[in-house]
Amino acid sequence: MAGGGARIASVGIVGANIAGASTAETLRRLGYDGRIALIGAETELPYERPPLSKEFLTGQFDEERLTLRPRAFYDEQRIELWLGQRATALDAATRTITLASGERHRFDRLVLATGSELLPFPVPGADLPGVYSLRTLADAHTLRAALRAGASQGGRAVVVGAGFIGSEVAAACRMAGMDVTLIEMLPVPLERALGSRMGALLADVHRTRGVEVLTGETVTAIRGAARAEEVVTSSGAHIPCAFVVVGTGVRPALGWLADSGLAIENGVVVDATCETSAPGIFAAGDLANWPYQPAATAPALRVRLEHWDNALRQGETVARNLLGEGVAYRHIPYFWSDQYDLKLQYVGYTPTWDEIVVRGVPPESFVAFYLREGRVRAAFSSNRQRDLVTLKKLMAADPMLPAELLADDQLPLKELLKQV
Ligand SMILES: Cc1cc2nc3c(=O)[nH]c(=O)nc-3n(C[C@H](O)[C@H](O)[C@H](O)COP(=O)(O)OP(=O)(O)OC[C@H]3O[C@@H](n4cnc5c(N)ncnc54)[C@H](O)[C@@H]3O)c2cc1C
Repeated sequence: MAGGGARIASVGIVGANIAGASTAETLRRLGYDGRIALIGAETELPYERPPLSKEFLTGQFDEERLTLRPRAFYDEQRIELWLGQRATALDAATRTITLASGERHRFDRLVLATGSELLPFPVPGADLPGVYSLRTLADAHTLRAALRAGASQGGRAVVVGAGFIGSEVAAACRMAGMDVTLIEMLPVPLERALGSRMGALLADVHRTRGVEVLTGETVTAIRGAARAEEVVTSSGAHIPCAFVVVGTGVRPALGWLADSGLAIENGVVVDATCETSAPGIFAAGDLANWPYQPAATAPALRVRLEHWDNALRQGETVARNLLGEGVAYRHIPYFWSDQYDLKLQYVGYTPTWDEIVVRGVPPESFVAFYLREGRVRAAFSSNRQRDLVTLKKLMAADPMLPAELLADDQLPLKELLKQV
């Protein structure tokens, strides 16, 4: 039963994807027996987004593989699914939400988990048929059909934005046999997140597979009579295309909270327990801006991450805190990306670093450690899934480690951890 004294009769969770579903499931696992409403704008059962640009796009997974839980699970758990229902406003003082239908609903506790939405792409021709983006299952169905048609007809896919999702889409199109042009605004893809050396390495991964990678270029127009036929870039190139995929990033989906009075800055600001500035209202996942300090010597940062694992685990923490546990969210974050035969992973987080130390052989099998004042604050790796847990432990233990040891691939990371 709910801890913290007062009985909580109802929990409303706005946003029915991984963060929201994780909160709902964890509440039941912890024995909460009050009412739970999981409210989401999409009509599908909560599903996994990461495969949309990977196994679903390449045809390895069908839709059934993406669903988090069958409908019967929610029925058994008495988790009410209010699907196809968009929240348009929040009155934080009374914990009342307004839905697009005009209905208003008050809950004893609220969880905000509306995640991310696509950034606008204000380029002439961006509304032509044949210009796609990828956030939802519906988007993925459309893109998968276009990819199949493009592959059989031998056309060129133009992907705008060489972030992780754009790069995965470019890889899927290339593996399907299409010609691919990947256009990136920065001089080096992912330069801010990974640095120029690792970014250049990823660009080369695509180039060696035959993708044309254009960097330091933007799209100025998309042209075509009835659908997208060519992409015009800032250097004046005209690139003929079968279709265009826009992967220029996302922003937190918080328009509906504009008049809520909640503290908002790069997402919904939460404290270490994931509670917002309004008591009894929590936030989790892509929407939440939370305090991150993995170790005592690490700088105190505020982060908003767009990672599946963060959404899952923050949902769990929120559930515990709804029941009065008062625990701080302290996970070392990580995400993955699959491109061709490379399983990429990024563990930890650091916006700046003094040096990058590499062990192994890039790009096939390596770990790049991002060091700040002699301590590992993040690691980017390829085909080293086995190191994930050790890397997290290493960052939490927070030792000063000589660069020679980190770089020595003969010394297993587990051994390095034992020396701490
Ligand atoms: C194609 C793709 C590939 C990805 N690959 C990876 C990967 O490899 N690794 C990784 O770590 N992460 C990956 N991610 C990111 C990961 O999927 C997200 O971090 C995760 O989905 C965040 O979960 P969330 O529940 O916080 O938000 P979301 O998944 O954004 O879900 C929020 C939900 O809230 C709903 N909603 C929004 N506004 C409202 C409203 N006003 N009222 C009601 N409902 C609303 C939305 O419709 C949505 O269903 C990928 C994302 C995409 C799109």
